[in-house]
Amino acid sequence: MVKKKGFEKLVVSAQSLGLDLSLLSHDAMLVVKGLQKKGFRAYLVGGCIRDLLLGKEPKDFDVSTDATPEQVHKIFNNSRIIGRRFKIVHVVYSGVIIEVTTFRSNQVAPKSVQKSTKNSTRVSAQSGMLIRDNVYGKNIVEDSQRRDFTINALYLDPIKQEIYDYNGGLYDLTQGVLDLIGDPDVRYSEDPVRMIRALRFSAKLGFKISKRSSDPIKRLSHKLLEVSNARMFEEVNKLFLTGHGYESFKVLCKYNLFTQLFPDTYGLIENKSYCNFIEFALKSSDQRFAENKRNMPHFLFSVILWNCFQRVLFGLRRNNDAMINPLDDDALVNLAFQSVFTNQDKVTDLPFAVTDNIKSLWRMQLLLQQYSENGPYSPDSLSVRNIFRASFDFLSLRAKFEPYLEPIVEFWSTFYKTSKALADKRHAANVAKRNKKQADIDEKKTKKKKGKAKKRPSEEGFEDESNLSEKRKAQLAKARAWRESMNLKN
Ligand code: ATP
Ligand code: MG
Repeated sequence: MVKKKGFEKLVVSAQSLGLDLSLLSHDAMLVVKGLQKKGFRAYLVGGCIRDLLLGKEPKDFDVSTDATPEQVHKIFNNSRIIGRRFKIVHVVYSGVIIEVTTFRSNQVAPKSVQKSTKNSTRVSAQSGMLIRDNVYGKNIVEDSQRRDFTINALYLDPIKQEIYDYNGGLYDLTQGVLDLIGDPDVRYSEDPVRMIRALRFSAKLGFKISKRSSDPIKRLSHKLLEVSNARMFEEVNKLFLTGHGYESFKVLCKYNLFTQLFPDTYGLIENKSYCNFIEFALKSSDQRFAENKRNMPHFLFSVILWNCFQRVLFGLRRNNDAMINPLDDDALVNLAFQSVFTNQDKVTDLPFAVTDNIKSLWRMQLLLQQYSENGPYSPDSLSVRNIFRASFDFLSLRAKFEPYLEPIVEFWSTFYKTSKALADKRHAANVAKRNKKQADIDEKKTKKKKGKAKKRPSEEGFEDESNLSEKRKAQLAKARAWRESMNLKN
């Protein structure tokens, strides 16, 4: 039985822990071997070791090394250096990304190094949040202390087949405990996302959060507002779309963080029927995930914010009736939508395509209820819209809690099944879309070959902005901020 020994080094053979090395990613092994061959130290680290020891399939494989990002990049031509806050290297094998990080350290970089490059330092905001953390460490002892939880700081040398633990992670793994490395107040202030990660891993793994790691969460939760809203959008997706959404919801409510992530749900979360609706939806997306089906962010946000949208819309309609020049319903829907997303965007910056889909999906809820053979929204015209399938699924979900919708769902369900002409139309549209995509790819390849694509696209591959409308410029700025916060910027 492994004992918790704090910072004492623990070396355990992978075999004795029952770790099946044949489950290691072939690509990650290539990276480790490639680095070790050049004389660098390299280990598999983090979630992949944790998950393998728990008998789960790892989501991805991360490598930790003493080679600098530049050295890693030099070894692998299929790699790129990304990120600013954390400089890391992505080594890419036919679509699979192996993330390689250089050992980090708790020490403050010497002045000479700080001056040498603006990326080689650690920079904090006044709140304690780390804005940049690129002080490189000498070994895995130092590196392990920069990681978040003890169970995420296990290192495997796949060649020696040894696991290294300096923080009692193996012990915590046997106890089902999530314990932050270092002083929780400091570590949460450095990166408030660690609070969300604590709740996510607790939901995903069914682990308890140690008392010292859970105590500060409610007190420090306001610090989440300091995190870039693009990064928060990604974190919300990880919480709810990857098979443990229902558990995430429960644990977020327990720590009063749900309303922090979705401020407009304040006042709704105490409502039993709202919670039942969310729980039902999250259980079905967990089920979809288990069946290897994709869960889409627009559906998630549509579900969570639907009641907020309705609440605003009803209020607007009530006031509108008393107006001398009342607005039409489309305008009211737009206003309600703007109101909900002006608030939500402050926390999670949704890409334009996602908000656009949510708007269409919500608008379709109203239209699906108003269909009529001869009216402006005939079933034929509604059912060929892109968002129809998601809208229908959403309506079915609502009908579980709003029984008056049942006959409407019944109508659309029969219509969907029996309308072969529509099915053919949809199929033809999909084929055309695929062909167009292929034609675009072929055209690009040909252009590249002929050397015609001389004009470099503007910065980061975005389009030339000089002729763009203000709205498009704002969208591009949003997309750029998102890429940057997701470390997608070179
Ligand atoms: P999963 O991939 O299943 O979500 P993970 O633990 O692998 O879980 P990643 O986001 O892939 O999570 O990060 C890989 C490793 O990097 C983590 O296991 C942890 O050691 C370290 N890490 C990630 N994010 C942080 C953070 N915010 N603070 C400190 N260490 C982190
Ligand atoms: Mg991972």
